[in-house]
Amino acid sequence: MALIIDENKCIGCGVCASMVDTVFEMNDEEGFATVKDPKGASNEEIQEAIEACPVEAISI
Ligand code: SF4
Repeated sequence: MALIIDENKCIGCGVCASMVDTVFEMNDEEGFATVKDPKGASNEEIQEAIEACPVEAISI
């Protein structure tokens, strides 16, 4: 499963990383989220984070 964060859409709110910190992490210097480990959590947990992103920047 490819998990992609659109860096142009991401507003750096930190929601995804706070929900699933095993999968997402914040790049504080750049101000957006990155994928740390796409297999770091269940598909359900990842899906919840995708749906919680306010700008729909995460896709699979
Ligand atoms: S929830 Fe969306 S906008 Fe917020 S940091 Fe994650 S990818 Fe970026």
